[in-house]
Amino acid sequence: PLPTVAIVGRPNVGKSTLFNRLVGKRLALVDDRPGVTRDRREGDAHLIGLDFRVIDTAGFEDEDPQTLPGRMRAQTEAAVREADVALFLIDARAGVVPLDEEIARWLRAEDTPIVLAVNKAEGRAGEQGALEALALGFGDPVQISAEHGEGVADLFEAILPYI
Ligand code: GDP
Ligand code: MG
Repeated sequence: PLPTVAIVGRPNVGKSTLFNRLVGKRLALVDDRPGVTRDRREGDAHLIGLDFRVIDTAGFEDEDPQTLPGRMRAQTEAAVREADVALFLIDARAGVVPLDEEIARWLRAEDTPIVLAVNKAEGRAGEQGALEALALGFGDPVQISAEHGEGVADLFEAILPYI
């Protein structure tokens, strides 16, 4: 089995945009048992000579964005637990919001290694977002722009030790 990277974060930070950039057309068909993998897409990425599996999660999309009632959605939990590394995405433009902090608390309690990335970091938003995200305690975040394809090599370098 390929090493696996799970992309996690609150709605609208750009998880699916990043997934699409990494996986492109190599989208895998996943288990279509009702309710089992509905919110989950996975596919294979091939980057700088390395193959790995990427899981896009959508575990928060149905939740009130201001709350994380009790636990993360089961799909996202399962994805993080089976992944070799979880890529935790923050929106550089929005900064760190309470739901990011709740997700961070949950991720800290998991055993899966975390790589923090601030997305939408093109232009001037990156530095401020990265500074704010530092406080989450996952180290210096990688600045990326999933939409514009910036920072992908840095991102790759950050996840490389785990895959
Ligand atoms: P998800 O809910 O986390 O999967 O987020 P999406 O991938 O659906 O993206 C949410 C919105 O953010 C969309 O309108 C994207 O076009 C936009 N977006 C994603 N990546 C970037 C980026 O790097 N820069 C900017 N400015 N917008 C982005
Ligand atoms: Mg999405």
